[in-house]
Amino acid sequence: MKGIVFDIQRFCVHDGPGIRTTLFLKGCPLHCDWCCNPESQRRFPQPLYDEAKCIGCGSCAEVCTRGAISLKPAYHIAVKICRDCESHACVEECYGEALSLAGRTYTVEELLETVERDQGFYQFSKGGLTLSGGEALMQTDFAVELLRQSKERGIHTALETCSACPWESIRRTIPYVDVYLCDVKHTDPEKLKAETGGNAEEILGHIRKLRKSGAYIIGRIPVIPGFNDKAEEIAAIGRFFLESDIGEVQLLAFHRMGEPKYRKIFREQRPRKRQALTGEEMQERVELLQALGLQASMG
Ligand code: SF4
Ligand code: SF4
Repeated sequence: MKGIVFDIQRFCVHDGPGIRTTLFLKGCPLHCDWCCNPESQRRFPQPLYDEAKCIGCGSCAEVCTRGAISLKPAYHIAVKICRDCESHACVEECYGEALSLAGRTYTVEELLETVERDQGFYQFSKGGLTLSGGEALMQTDFAVELLRQSKERGIHTALETCSACPWESIRRTIPYVDVYLCDVKHTDPEKLKAETGGNAEEILGHIRKLRKSGAYIIGRIPVIPGFNDKAEEIAAIGRFFLESDIGEVQLLAFHRMGEPKYRKIFREQRPRKRQALTGEEMQERVELLQALGLQASMG
């Protein structure tokens, strides 16, 4: 079985317990404007453009038989057209390496071979494999097979999910996941819909149902300036976790490290209305969640 992965990171310490290998699968049902991996959102491999390396030779546009690339008035790739492109000839042709490909097809066996290299570290640290994205369950069959075969090989498994996918996709992972990392970005349906395209009723419902099935869940809250960073918004998410019988919650601090990638995929980011919370303010939010009775920490 094959799937599309856009990054493989070994020795991760923030994607579940212990030392882990994290596989980032391509595709996401949401379109969060703060995503630090915006190249993850489309389901298919896509070219990334680095303006600083481009010499303007035009070879990429010449070899693209679909006419996806224009050089004037400014360099642009109509990435939607790249869906189902098998050659990625533009990337091959670019001598200056201004173009690279986000997303590559792997077999389950190829990936698990990489994951197994660090078995010693997993055993020593109680770590293992984490599937992330994008949203790993956009490739449900592939994700389930990765998880199933990992368990067969005695590897601890974690699945990071936005839960905005069909319940059947989530249900199929239950026998093979040791810990779920479930993001909740907002409890207000209108705000969530407007900023991410997500359906709050569906997402929160799936997390409740998953917990009721006996799954171990760590709740995660990415704290986004001007979207969900007010104390009352964080508290509302905290209360949702508490009421869902999820006791462990991690706050994820906002950062801007993904911003240069937006230019590489020809996408504009909306300016954020407020500055990110300071370390002190983040700590106040952690303490707020602790006061509610949650085991809260910075993730
Ligand atoms: S990925 Fe394929 S369709 Fe897209 S620009 Fe390159 S050659 Fe053209
Ligand atoms: S082939 Fe590479 S260097 Fe030449 S125009 Fe295209 S992106 Fe720029």
